Amino acid sequence: MIKAADVFATPLDYARLPHDELVARIRERKQELNAVILGHNYQRLEIQSVSDYLGDSLGLSQEAAATDADVIVFCGVHFMAETAKILSPDKTVLMPDLRAGCPMADFVTAQSLRRLKQLQPNAAVVTYVNSTAAVKAESDICCTSANAVKIVDSFPRDRTIIFVPDKNLADYAAKKTGRPIRSASEFLREGADQTVEAGTIIAWDGYCYVHDDLVLTELSEAKQKYPHAKVIIHPEARADLLAQADYVASTSGMADIAAQHDAVIIGTERGLIDRLQARFPEKTIVPLSRAAICGNMKVNTIAKLAWCLDHKQHELIMPEEIRVRAERALRRMLDLSEGWGEKRTPEEERLEQTGMGARGCGCN
Ligand code: SF4
Repeated sequence: MIKAADVFATPLDYARLPHDELVARIRERKQELNAVILGHNYQRLEIQSVSDYLGDSLGLSQEAAATDADVIVFCGVHFMAETAKILSPDKTVLMPDLRAGCPMADFVTAQSLRRLKQLQPNAAVVTYVNSTAAVKAESDICCTSANAVKIVDSFPRDRTIIFVPDKNLADYAAKKTGRPIRSASEFLREGADQTVEAGTIIAWDGYCYVHDDLVLTELSEAKQKYPHAKVIIHPEARADLLAQADYVASTSGMADIAAQHDAVIIGTERGLIDRLQARFPEKTIVPLSRAAICGNMKVNTIAKLAWCLDHKQHELIMPEEIRVRAERALRRMLDLSEGWGEKRTPEEERLEQTGMGARGCGCN
């Protein structure tokens, strides 16, 4: 039992403790609180090593909802902890550092989305899971990077779609479904009385800096060095890069494809690539960019995690009205993509156990 006298005031105090002591403290406190620790694929290894579950944001939230834990500690970014709360309203959800936010999610607010909806009242709103709960609550349905094309395609061909917040994923879905695309900021600038071609995707101008920063010159260099490697790129990357890929896949899809080839060049965050390299040491797994690191994800540290458990902070609080509406958009997506109840193949099961299963969502 951790005594009050042993609890330190700030994460900095915890950072001075030896690593083994932090790990022991986390394990003990986790038991006392009946807590479960969720570690996103992009977290530091020190966090991954003490996590009960590893994976992508939506997969982790589903795992947590299925447990009888009273407390969920989400080591990821803010919208991910929100998703855990949406799916587990009766559990306490904690974050080690509230500053771990996602710049892509923050591109769009509920207020700005409502303004766009007013200009296009008959449009369906498709929202990538990398978004705030307030934005999800304004949406008809959510999507992941793995099912974005399927979700867009589920609407009648002539229905206008507002897609937020990722412009690159919107562009990819538009190309795959043969729909015209327009920029939301241009649309908002021009105001009311605009004619919109039937079936247009009005795409918010957000992006993930980690994936949007991947460039063609890096890809040509990697291809020159590894000419036989298959190129796998995340759909959050730009269209010119996606056009050069052998595969466009979510992070979970990347794990599946990497399992099938001897050499791959992968365009996504380094955290996932490092894990794939550890998982498949016999393969050549090359990061498209060594600089593709999400600093927001790395804000969490093992010292902050220990502090968070000792102090039972920072608790994520969400108005119930927002939670219920956001859950509706998430559940619609799950219904349409048949949820996660399908029977997995042995390979999918194995990848699931390594936290790289086929669920496929954002940062993901
Ligand atoms: S990798 Fe991109 S989408 Fe994921 S948390 Fe970081 S900024 Fe957001």
